[in-house]
Order: sequence, then structure tokens, then C-alpha cells
Amino acid sequence: MTSVSSPEILLKNIAELITMAPENIDNNKPRTGKDMGKLGNITDGAVAIGNGKIICVGSTRDVLGQLDLSANTSVIDCTGKTVLPGFVDPHTHLIFSGSRESELTLKLEGKTYMDILQSGGGILKTVHATRNASLDDLLVEAKKRLDIMLEHGTTTLEAKSGYGLSEDSELRSLQAIKDLGNIHVMDIVPTFLGAHARPPELPDDPDRYIDLIISDMLPNVEQRRLAEFCDVFCEEGVFSVDQSERLLRSAKDHGLKPKLHIDEFVHLGGAKLAATLCATSADHLMMTSDDDLSAMAEAGVIGVLLPGTPFALMEKEYPNAQRMLELGVPIALATDLNPNCMTESMQFIISIACYNMKLLPAQAITAATINAAHAIDRAELVGSLEVGKQADMIILDVPNYQHIPYHFGINHVIKVIKKGKLVVDKYKIRSSNI
Ligand SMILES: [Zn+2]
Repeated sequence: MTSVSSPEILLKNIAELITMAPENIDNNKPRTGKDMGKLGNITDGAVAIGNGKIICVGSTRDVLGQLDLSANTSVIDCTGKTVLPGFVDPHTHLIFSGSRESELTLKLEGKTYMDILQSGGGILKTVHATRNASLDDLLVEAKKRLDIMLEHGTTTLEAKSGYGLSEDSELRSLQAIKDLGNIHVMDIVPTFLGAHARPPELPDDPDRYIDLIISDMLPNVEQRRLAEFCDVFCEEGVFSVDQSERLLRSAKDHGLKPKLHIDEFVHLGGAKLAATLCATSADHLMMTSDDDLSAMAEAGVIGVLLPGTPFALMEKEYPNAQRMLELGVPIALATDLNPNCMTESMQFIISIACYNMKLLPAQAITAATINAAHAIDRAELVGSLEVGKQADMIILDVPNYQHIPYHFGINHVIKVIKKGKLVVDKYKIRSSNI
């Protein structure tokens, strides 16, 4: 056995180590079907970390046999604990101002989405608040959410603009994402979602708004390197399949990779467009047909499922996740954090993915780690615990991963290691690291 240099951190005696790197599985592509259930579990495991990366992973006995421990190694005993790769949240609307807590009462009193919108609530309330927020205001509000995410075990996320719906406000939202990436330990993948909704100035002219995005916003986004992906809300009454295609083809010319919100309320055909454009992911998929899912499977488009959204809308129907896996669609899970689905916790999403969407616990863990990393093109860096990958991992106070969905509504994450540094300890962020 070759000896590896002295690690900075060693996790040992881990009751259950979930590597997400089982034998005979190629982590270079997202998983579907039966492979979703293979976690690469190791009993009494250990992980050694140096220079921000994983340098050794295996059973405690094997890892200790390969290491030269020095006095500088910080050893963390993980007896009775579970260790996982940090969660990856591949769909969040991180940047918005204000909140809409009073709408829960209205929804429970039977008011519809349109009633709420017409009384000055809904998305337009958030658009108004976000337009009026300064860059500093946006940073303060979003940083608080990032801290909560980190304390709940998310170590990488995607963040969208989309509550500005004007050039000035959309660019400010993207600038906030960029600034947060520089000041916060979290890895943030930026997505331009100027086409999140029709702006209040152009409620009946979506073509004109798409023209504006193409002529005025996309060149700026590219020039200032503000986004990696471009997303669109392709839905009846918002943007059509043709309008979405026009936008995403132009975005591709500006170097942005496509993502789509599709079929949340009606089956419009956005999945075929996602397949044609070889989009990285198509998200929501509440109403997508088998035929469309097969097209996605063929093109390798990842289905990002957001069970928090039907939960918050108090709907009975959830996306048919098991059918997607049968048809060969790789699936990932995300919070969809937004003012109408107000959660930062991937643990909570994993629970409702199991209880309401019928994912098995092991499938949900795969969807929240390695497949979620694929859904934002970060699988070569994060999403599994393998030698050479970024040392992003979480220590949970449970003896095995099945407790994560089973024991719901609380935070199991006691420690978080991000890029080789202990950033959360005793459930709290260590401020010196942020
Ligand atoms: Zn969304």
C-alpha cells in the first residue's frame, strides 16, 4: 500500500460513510433506473483531507494503514455518525426581497393564485420589492439564506435571478449572486432567469419582452460574465415553446447553457425543446408525458424535481419520479427556494420526496448529491466522496442515511466541511470561515 502525505483533517470511525462512488458505477454521467439506489456505503469508514481535497477514503482500518498522521492532523471521531457528500441544490431562486407569509392564510381560506395576484400579492409583490432593493439589501437577505443552507448541509447551489424583470434589476440580481460567491464559502452557480414571468409593463406582449431580453440583457450578461446558465419559465400564459426556443438559442450564442421550467401546471411540450437543445436540465415536470420523458432520456436531459412546490401549493399530485426512472430519465432534487416555497433545507426536500413523491431514501440521496451536481455541471468537482474531488462533506448525528427522510423536520447536520475547512460545528456556522 502506498502511503499518502499527512492529512489536515481525518474523519474516522464513521458508522456509515456514503461515498456515492460504488463499484462499477461511472460518476461521469448522471444516474437513472436501478443505479439511483447504489450509494457506495462503507461501515466504519474514514476520509482524509488535505489541500481542500479528498486524499484517501475507505474503511477506517484501510485509511489509517495508508496515512502518516502528524501532530497537525485534526482528527474527528465520527462514532455513531453518518457522513455524506455535501448536498447540492440545483434549483433555487436565491435572490429576492421580502417575503409573502400572509398568503398562506389567504390560500387556506380558499383564495386562488389569481385572487392573490389581483389583490397586490403573488410574484408581482416580490418583483416590486426586488426592484426597490439596493445591491446591499439583496446581499444581506440572500446571505442569511446561504448561511441557513450551509447549516442544513448544502455546500453547492444554483442561484437564479428572475424577480427583477427589468434590465437594471435583473443585472443587479446577478451581480448579487456574483458578489455572494466572492464573500461566502458556498459555491454558487449563477443562472439568468430574466424570462421568469411577464413584466408588469408588458403583461400581454411576451414576444416584445423576449426581444428586450435578447437585445438588451443577454449581451450585458455575457460581457460582465454574470451567468453560466439561462433559464425560462415555459408555461401556458407565461412564455410559449417558440418564445422559449428563441430565447435559449440566443442565450447559447452568448455562451449560456440552457435550462427550462416546464410542465408545472399544463403539458405544453417544453420537454421536447429541452431535448432538442440538449438542455442541461428541465425542471418541475409535473405534467410531462411519457413520450416527452423518453425524448429527455434519449438526449440526456436531467429532470430536476421540486417536491417543495406542490407541497407549498397544497396539491395532491407530485411528479411521477418512479416512471421517470423506468423511462431512463436521470433525476435530481432541489428546494426551488422562493417566496412561495420558503425552505432552504435539502433534508426536508428529501423527506417529502420520499413521503409524497415515493422516491426510496437511497434514490433521494443520489438525487440530492451526485445527480444534483450533474444538473449544474459540477459533477467533476462535487457530489461524491472520491480521491481528488473537492472536500465538501457533512457529518450527521444519525447512525445511517435512512434516518434523514425518516426523522423529518429537524436538522441532523452537526458539522460541515467545505473545501477542506470545518465551516459548521455544533450545528452553527463558525464565523471566521465565512
Ligand atoms: Zn423555479
